[in-house]
Amino acid sequence: MLSFVRNFHFYINIIMKINYFLFTGLLLTIIGLHACQKPLLFGLEQQKALGLQVRDQILADPQTYPILDEKQYPQAYQHIRRITNNILNSGKVEMKSQFTWEVRIIKDDKTLNAFCTPGGYIFVYTGLIKYLDTEDQLAGVMGHEIAHADRQHSARAMEKQYGVGLMVEIALGKAKSEELKQVANGLIGLKFSRDHEYEADAYSVNYLAGTQYRCNGAADFFVKIGGSGAQQPPEFMSTHPNPGNRVEAINAKAKTINCPTDKPDNKTEYQKFKNSLP
Ligand SMILES: [Zn+2]
Repeated sequence: MLSFVRNFHFYINIIMKINYFLFTGLLLTIIGLHACQKPLLFGLEQQKALGLQVRDQILADPQTYPILDEKQYPQAYQHIRRITNNILNSGKVEMKSQFTWEVRIIKDDKTLNAFCTPGGYIFVYTGLIKYLDTEDQLAGVMGHEIAHADRQHSARAMEKQYGVGLMVEIALGKAKSEELKQVANGLIGLKFSRDHEYEADAYSVNYLAGTQYRCNGAADFFVKIGGSGAQQPPEFMSTHPNPGNRVEAINAKAKTINCPTDKPDNKTEYQKFKNSLP
């Protein structure tokens, strides 16, 4: 009888432990599902290494990415760095000290675009700079692209599109050159989720609120491009969210965090920037 009681307790104990593990497992799965927003397998160091490889691939392909020569156009680079640093020094960029944050200008007047690799390598096309009227608009767009890297959207989207295996190979410098080229080219048309687009817009407002720019500069951009019927919609417009809804969401965010949207246009310095381009 005693042995039965002892066994009974033993089995109850085992069953409770199994239940505990099942419950903990379920809980971890639920937490995991929520946490899948973050790249779990691709850490910050790997993102930086990946970004560096992609940057090098871009620099090695001047046919596709004709980088504006800094020696020839030092003023243009002073302007783009000034704008980039204003955003980075807003106090709102989480990865400000972790990521590299380099910026380069691509000499291509036909392309209205900008993008940022994981790890913070930023590329802005002359087409976009020339198309816009104010520094606030450009800062709004750059804030959006910086947010994709800062919030690690880029790494997540690349993981989804190319698989973790290839990402790790690239980060380790072991990918074939064709693979690297494919990933670098894919970065420009990288599809972000609807949530990530809205989040990048909201973060653009957050960043700009800590600068001298109008915090809804990104909304000004959408309003301008909305009526233009641009042939090649840039990354920040190529995905699902409707531009009109995004303008509303950006302005609503500005209201929520109480940042002024009636600051005067920053046109004079911006015109100097445009004049410094070829
Ligand atoms: Zn975007």
